[in-house]
Amino acid sequence: MAAPLSHRAGPAPGKTALISYVLPVYNEQDSIRRFHQELTAVLDRRPEYSYELIYVNDGSRDASLELLSDLAKNDPRVRVVDFARNFGHQIAITAGLDEAGGDAVIIMDTDLQDPPAVSLELIDAWRDGAEIVHARRRTRRDTLFKRATAHLFYRLLRSSTEVEIPLDTGDFRLLDRRAADELRRFRERSRFVRGMVAAMGFRQSEVLFDRDQRVAGETKYPLRKMAGLAIDGVTGFSTAPLRLITRLGFVVLALSLAGIGYAVAMKFFRPDITVSGWTMMMVVVLFLGGTQMLSLGVLGSYIGRIYAEVQGRPLYIVRQVVSGGDDGERAGG
Ligand code: UDP
Ligand code: MG
Repeated sequence: MAAPLSHRAGPAPGKTALISYVLPVYNEQDSIRRFHQELTAVLDRRPEYSYELIYVNDGSRDASLELLSDLAKNDPRVRVVDFARNFGHQIAITAGLDEAGGDAVIIMDTDLQDPPAVSLELIDAWRDGAEIVHARRRTRRDTLFKRATAHLFYRLLRSSTEVEIPLDTGDFRLLDRRAADELRRFRERSRFVRGMVAAMGFRQSEVLFDRDQRVAGETKYPLRKMAGLAIDGVTGFSTAPLRLITRLGFVVLALSLAGIGYAVAMKFFRPDITVSGWTMMMVVVLFLGGTQMLSLGVLGSYIGRIYAEVQGRPLYIVRQVVSGGDDGERAGG
């Protein structure tokens, strides 16, 4: 029997590996040039790879697009995907992934909060065999409010979802070609990319880094958008809110039955203090309340199933198919 060959992440021997960078841009006119300079300077430190830099202009209203077009003119490695309007960060990185053809794909912000030098560490971890490498924040230099809400968000997410979403990890990460291809099969509209990555499996590892301040401009994730992302994260990866209704239904129904028993007992044993009509009213109200809440729970559990079906996620993810005689690279998708 042939020994099982493991799918080997990392650069294939004998040819220059291509690394794609997916770089979402929304109103970053004041940081984009500096970002590009720093990134390209860092890339010169790993001349053994070739690179493509895919900037996704997510409907910027400032001069970002002109600046990006300039970069593309002067650097053949640059490609710009220009959105017709602002579709949001999660969609922007999805479009970048669709466009990326590299042996590894790195997703990072363009405001220099994700230091370009750290992306080399991601590449090194990939070279050593990791299929997905998360860049995890050791520290971050944001406002207290942002740090506190983010801290809470990651803990809430972890306790309510079924997949193990890594703590303090944004979208800064590297995906091996196989993992990137699989991620592209997740086509749901309310996107929470880091959750989908966590749900895929693969050999995942992490690199710690210190998150810098934004070099210019302000965050494009105000509280409203952060809350939206948090809701997409929780509802996209758990049916906990729906299950809550079912549980509540059982509790309310039990209490209602007890209340009905009490109302009927009062009528028979203490007719002197029971107002006429009270028993009937209590029985009807409690019965309706209890059964309605439980029915909502039943509806909820069906809606949960419908939701999971319409998300249309892949049922399983194959890393490779090993058979005698071939080199194990015939991974199915
Ligand atoms: N971004 C985007 N579309 C948006 C919002 C943000 O492409 O609608 C980009 C933005 O240009 C940046 C990255 O996503 O490169 C992260 O955004 P930001 O730095 O504002 O988020 P924060 O770091 O404050 O969480
Ligand atoms: Mg930022």
